[in-house]
Amino acid sequence: MNFEEHLKKYLTNEEISNLMDSLDKMSTHALLVNTNKIDDEFLLKKFPHLTKHPLVDHCYLYDNNEYPLGKHIYFEQGLYYLFEPCSSLIAHYLNPQEDDVILDCAAAPGGKALHTAILKKNKGIVVANEISRERSLVLSSNVERMGVSNVIVTNNSLDDFSSFNETFDKIILDAPCSGSGMFRKEDKMKEDWTYQKVLSLAELQKTLIMQAYNLLKPRGILSYSTCSFSYEEDEETVQYLLDNTNAELIEIEDRKEFYKSKSRIGIHLFPNLFIGEGHYLCLIKKPGEIFTTKIKEPKEDKYAPTLRKEFSLDGYIYSFDNIYYRLPQYFDFKKLKVVRGGLKLGTLEKYGFDLDHALSHYLTNYKNSINLNDEQVTSYVQGNSMNLDVKDGYVIIEYDDNGLGLAKAKNKKVNNKYPKGLRKNQIVL
Ligand code: SAM
Repeated sequence: MNFEEHLKKYLTNEEISNLMDSLDKMSTHALLVNTNKIDDEFLLKKFPHLTKHPLVDHCYLYDNNEYPLGKHIYFEQGLYYLFEPCSSLIAHYLNPQEDDVILDCAAAPGGKALHTAILKKNKGIVVANEISRERSLVLSSNVERMGVSNVIVTNNSLDDFSSFNETFDKIILDAPCSGSGMFRKEDKMKEDWTYQKVLSLAELQKTLIMQAYNLLKPRGILSYSTCSFSYEEDEETVQYLLDNTNAELIEIEDRKEFYKSKSRIGIHLFPNLFIGEGHYLCLIKKPGEIFTTKIKEPKEDKYAPTLRKEFSLDGYIYSFDNIYYRLPQYFDFKKLKVVRGGLKLGTLEKYGFDLDHALSHYLTNYKNSINLNDEQVTSYVQGNSMNLDVKDGYVIIEYDDNGLGLAKAKNKKVNNKYPKGLRKNQIVL
């Protein structure tokens, strides 16, 4: 069966034709303001032609030719996250609360998990899990760049979460899918599409949605999404969950830009009706009663008070192999393969505490920091050392009053600590 034919399962010929026409149009780009660091006005002053997203706060559309935002210094500073306009609807409708403990089952490269983490203002916990090792490292570096301290990055299969049944207040399952919602961005997705692929991914999605549902607390909410237009991967996967559990649908508002099939299970975001590449989203709740059990925090590490004072930190501070981390609260992840266990603070060495680069993207008002001008910051990202009027010791290097990286100073000579993998010959300012 070809792509157009298989859409006849739920779309009329006219609807298919409108959708197909929209797949030939140009892609759209969006950004999410990192409100942990800046407000919208800060960005609008620099990029006045940003257009407000029609539904999602702090989200803007931009023209990639006018503003090459992926190459800008603000990108390196984590002042915004670049993603696809439809993706922003996931956290928007999930509506995370500050204290929620949330799992993103398939999180890399991280848009939905990071949007959720930012809305939680460095409170609660977001476990951002990714099955692929390579993609979990990309996710981890995006978490570091955005400077969030409430995210634990794990690299597990959902089977590994079997001891976490009924643990999470909210869960995102943005499932691996056949990717028809990526046709405009990547020709390869179009060439590689087969109906057989749709059917085999639908089987995987049924397994994943059942596993995710088990991990949800009673009264919790599961957000199921794909970037596929296939009924088999969307409504039918959710219907499978409804048929086999006590799950209930949460109705998403009716809007003219959303397409609901006759089953009214979730919404489709078609590029001919809504900005973006295309997505499917459904919200599901688990009925039942919540029984709260008090989790006993382990005793605080003896070096934690020193770090608390030095960096004005609250929350839970712990160490693993002399590397120290901060989380807003304790979360027992011993049974998981952890790539990043919260905000990485640094390593306790014999000679003292070695700060981690991640801190430079989190701390504001550190006692020893300096704002660089355009010429200095260009030299800094190239990895050069320089002379600066700062006190001895670690220095947080800032640009436009936001952290970028670390340096270590002795007698005004500053040794560049910007990670080698991030250094660049050129940067847009
Ligand atoms: N939510 C991500 C975001 O906003 O950036 C995008 C997730 S992408 C659509 C789906 C992810 O599922 C991929 O990163 C892929 O590696 C992962 N995946 C593939 N097979 C999986 C499986 N069997 N179990 C869990 N995740 C899987």
